[in-house]
Amino acid sequence: MKLGILSRNKSLYSTSRLVEAAEEKGHDVEVIDHLKCDIVIEQDNPKIYFRGERIDYLDAIIPRIGASVTFYGAAVVRQFEMMEVFSAVHSQALVRSRDKLRSLQLLASSGVGLPKTVFTNYSKEVKKLIESVGGAPLIVKLLEGTQGHGVVLGPTKKAAESIIEAFHAMKARVIVQEFISESKGADIRAFVVDGKVVGAMKRQGKEGEFRSNLHQGGSGSLIKLSKIEKDAALTAARAMDLQIAGVDMLQSDRGPLILEVNSSPGLEGIEKTTKKDIAATIISYIEKAVEERKKNPARK
Ligand code: ADP
Repeated sequence: MKLGILSRNKSLYSTSRLVEAAEEKGHDVEVIDHLKCDIVIEQDNPKIYFRGERIDYLDAIIPRIGASVTFYGAAVVRQFEMMEVFSAVHSQALVRSRDKLRSLQLLASSGVGLPKTVFTNYSKEVKKLIESVGGAPLIVKLLEGTQGHGVVLGPTKKAAESIIEAFHAMKARVIVQEFISESKGADIRAFVVDGKVVGAMKRQGKEGEFRSNLHQGGSGSLIKLSKIEKDAALTAARAMDLQIAGVDMLQSDRGPLILEVNSSPGLEGIEKTTKKDIAATIISYIEKAVEERKKNPARK
C-alpha cells in the first residue's frame, strides 16, 4: 500500500520507526510535513498539494501531529479523509483529544476512574474550588500544558490558593485536581492499538519529582497490567474513538485513574522499555483497516 506519515520531521524516533516498519513490510511510504501542505477546496474535488506536488495516490495516512499545530494538522487530515484516504487517527478524534475539558467529560461518561477534577473560568471562589477537590495537597494544571510543563503541586491550601490566583492573573486557564499521593511519582502508559494493549510501562519521576514524564527526567520500566488496568485503558481509548492511543493512568487506592489519552503517542519510550516492535503492530493494523475498507467501501 501507499502510506503517508504526517510529521514535521523524518528524523524523529517515532516517524523513522514507522517508516522503517512500513518499508520492512514492503509498502511505499513517504513523510509529509502537514504544515507544508496546501488544501484546495472546491465542490466534490478535494485536493492536497505538498511542496507543489499533488498527493492523490495514498491508501492511508498516519498523523503524527504536535499539539501546537493541531488546528492546521487536523484540517490536512480532514482533507485526506474527504479524499477517502484511511487515517489511522480520525480528524475529529484528534481534535477532541487535544481538548482536555472535552476529553475528561467523555472519559467520565465512559465510566473509567478519574482523579477528582475541577475546571473553572477564572473563578473568584478559589477557596471553594480547593475544597471541592478535597483540599490540599492538590495539583494545578495549565490547560494548554504538555509533557509535564505547567503541572504544579500545591502542597498546602495557602500555596494552592496563591498558585491558582497567579495563573488566573496571567489569564491562564487551569484544571484543579486532587493529588493522588499513593502513585508516588509514578504513572502507567498503556499503548493501545486496535482494541488491544500492545505494550505497557511504568514511568517513575526522578527523586523528589511527582511528575513521571520522560521529558522531566522520569524513567520507564516494564510492568504487567492487571485486568482492571487493561480494561480501563481499552475503555478510555474507545471513549476517545482512538484506535492508536497512549493511555496514561495513576495507580490509586481506588483503582486505576485515567490522566489523559494521547492521540500521537511516542514510540521511543515504549519500544525501548518493552523491546517490542510497536511500529510494526501499528502498520499491521493499518494494513488490516485498509483491506477491510476495500471490501466494504461504505464504511468510513
Ligand atoms: P502532561 O499532559 O503535561 O504530561 P499530566 O496531566 O500527564 O500532564 O501530568 C504530568 C505528570 O504529573 C503525570 O505523568 C503524573 O506523574 C503527575 N500527575 C499528574 N496529575 C496527577 C495527580 N492528580 N496526582 C498525582 N500525580 C499527578
